[in-house]
Amino acid sequence: MESDGGKTIFEKIIDREIPAEILMEDERCIVIRDINPGAPIHVLIIPKRKIARLSEAQNSDILILGHLLLTAQQFAKRQGLGDGFRIVVNNGPHAGETVPHLHIHFLAGKPMIWPPC
Ligand code: 5GP
Repeated sequence: MESDGGKTIFEKIIDREIPAEILMEDERCIVIRDINPGAPIHVLIIPKRKIARLSEAQNSDILILGHLLLTAQQFAKRQGLGDGFRIVVNNGPHAGETVPHLHIHFLAGKPMIWPPC
């Protein structure tokens, strides 16, 4: 799902070239509602600086990686979700990754089963 001009769909959303429902944003990341939700609440937490996927992150990415998880925690608190949420990272096409720009799926609002697949 790589976009034209070398930009991913998420870079285009971050750059306001295509619309998305933006729920939170700061200097490091953006939180948007997933266009094809898999749960009543399904948002994506996306770093503004593109890292293709977790397996390509560097030691120098430690702050942004922590920030993404703490943003998930903050979003859950704001939504009053307490401990009832799941986060998922699909790393690589074999794991279901369709957008090569790291993102955390945040899912909530229904009972979750385990294992997920
Ligand atoms: P992945 O499959 O890479 O782990 O997750 C990509 C997610 O991005 C999918 O859940 C998909 O529904 C979502 N997505 C793809 N294109 C768009 C879009 O244009 N806008 C929004 N908001 N979500 C998108």
